[in-house]
Amino acid sequence: MLGYTHPACLDHDTGAGHPECAERLGAVLEAVHAAFPALEWIEAPRATRGQLLRVHDERLLATVLSPPLAGTMRLDPDTLLSPGSPEAALRAVGAGIAATEAVMHGETDAAFCAVRPPGHHATADAAMGFCLFDNIAVAAAHALERFGLARVAIADFDVHHGNGTQAIFEHDPRVLYLSSHQADLYPWSGAANERGAGNLVNLPLPAGSGGEAFRQAWREHLLPALDAFAPQLVLVSAGFDGDRRDPLAQLALDPSDFAWITTELARLASRHACGRIVSMLEGGYDLQALREGAVAHVAALLGDGAPARTAG
Ligand SMILES: [Zn+2]
Repeated sequence: MLGYTHPACLDHDTGAGHPECAERLGAVLEAVHAAFPALEWIEAPRATRGQLLRVHDERLLATVLSPPLAGTMRLDPDTLLSPGSPEAALRAVGAGIAATEAVMHGETDAAFCAVRPPGHHATADAAMGFCLFDNIAVAAAHALERFGLARVAIADFDVHHGNGTQAIFEHDPRVLYLSSHQADLYPWSGAANERGAGNLVNLPLPAGSGGEAFRQAWREHLLPALDAFAPQLVLVSAGFDGDRRDPLAQLALDPSDFAWITTELARLASRHACGRIVSMLEGGYDLQALREGAVAHVAALLGDGAPARTAG
């Protein structure tokens, strides 16, 4: 397994008091370094314009790559651009590209991209919901175009629906997008009847749902769909804001649930995709929950996660 990150991801400044802050990434890196000192880390390269243009339009590239000279500029009520944002965004996308290359070339089976800004709300033409570019969508597009894959799965367990990723691929049956998320929460999409070209599986969970409901949803609906799809590559939008401590949402998951879903996804990657699994950090806004969630996730990717708790 390999880790991908870049110090420039700390330089995307969202202003005082913003939940999507540099301290989030610092907390993840510190906790994962401490728990797995032998894990090898690679500095993420910059994504290229051509890689971004597979998913995003010229106008969004121009917007994100033209930051203010100082201070911050608001792109939507939640999403800000600072002088360091373009480099952070390019490295965040580049991490997913490089990790995809590494697993496709057989240099490693699993990779974790500890990056920010997160990506899954950004659409083809708009930054939104703390996201500038859709990191995982660009990685998926790279796997399709550069490696000619026919079946790429994106499993998204962030507490928010990945509206951007869904919108980018809803007409492309080469990509299966699976998401569990809290119902009636930002960005208000992801109803179960949103099926796209038959390549979307959305499972909204009521506020207050805990690990049992989460595991049941994945066990009965999402994992069987993923298994039937037989992906050649599994990509994971790993958000830890479903934790019960998170200030922005109301699910009641704990780190053992993140370990469980990661183990299940890795198992399906082993069955269908020679173990190829690339995870990218999305949300998670309670720093301690984020530390514990990321460590549980990486432990499971390494194959030494705690045994799955039996859900009633
Ligand atoms: Zn989220």
